[in-house]
Amino acid sequence: MDKTITKAQIKAAVDEAYAESKGITGGHNADYIPFLANIDPNLFGISVTLLDGTTYSVGDTSYKFGIESVSKVLTAILVLKQHGADAVLKQIGADATGLPFNSIFAILLENDHPSTPLVNAGAITACSMVEPKGDSWGKWEAIINNIAALCGSEAQVLDELYRSESETNFNNRAIAWLLKNYNRIYDDVPMSLDLYTRQCSVGITAEQLAICAGTIANGGLNPVTKEQVFDKELAPKITTLISSVGFYQNTGDWLYTSGIPAKSGVGGGVLGVMPGVMGIAAFAPPLDEAGNSVKAQAAVKAVMKKLDLGVFNGDRVTVTD
Ligand code: GLU
Repeated sequence: MDKTITKAQIKAAVDEAYAESKGITGGHNADYIPFLANIDPNLFGISVTLLDGTTYSVGDTSYKFGIESVSKVLTAILVLKQHGADAVLKQIGADATGLPFNSIFAILLENDHPSTPLVNAGAITACSMVEPKGDSWGKWEAIINNIAALCGSEAQVLDELYRSESETNFNNRAIAWLLKNYNRIYDDVPMSLDLYTRQCSVGITAEQLAICAGTIANGGLNPVTKEQVFDKELAPKITTLISSVGFYQNTGDWLYTSGIPAKSGVGGGVLGVMPGVMGIAAFAPPLDEAGNSVKAQAAVKAVMKKLDLGVFNGDRVTVTD
């Protein structure tokens, strides 16, 4: 079915979703990373980027929060670019774990590969695959430059968050060494873990994440900078990964109720991809028990509902002025 929506409708949906979700309470800031526990829980913002680069933002969309797990999407794109879709499937996998993001049990259950680049285990493996091999600084440059290209502007590590994560990431250290045991770390282990920790500590804004989501929705062409950041054929691969595991053990429920593939992070960010239509991002620190932002989920769902959009609706969507 052909479906036309106007930019004015999209802007109105974003504004209304913000107003309706602003008062939602519930959830708690992540506290296993001390820095995140102290972020103002009232921060909240939504941004949408359309394929012509138009971006609508409301609320705290210029606030730099910890990108955390959403970074896994961006580095998965880098590794897909550097190694190709087949190598990522073989060396990491593309399966949902159905378990929490930091699960060691998931590795033991499926020790022939770390399941997917979008959980901690697979993301640490992904960092080990980043080229140039063995060159910590070169690898970091590749990761951070890829983030900037996808988001349309530079991003930096939040030093205090990086310190906080590095001092407390005992579970991730266990994951990294367990993966080494299964020959699933393809570079130095401490270096791969450190790169992962550093990428999770990058400060990002909701507006930057919406542009990144818009780039994925637009087949790798950044709608704002007009740079082709990755090949078009990788876009469905990355959206598949997001669809299958973006909300950890709650991913099925999320996709069923929201209609949009999305990836969350314990910093409170959510990045959603509506292929061929728009990218959306929302940010609010308090999380549900699975680690997904309570308010950001409500906001993204509200935008989708107001516009009657859904990735499986079977509509050919056109956005007009
Ligand atoms: N840096 C966090 C960790 O490794 C990311 C988790 C997340 O956002 O899901 O635990």
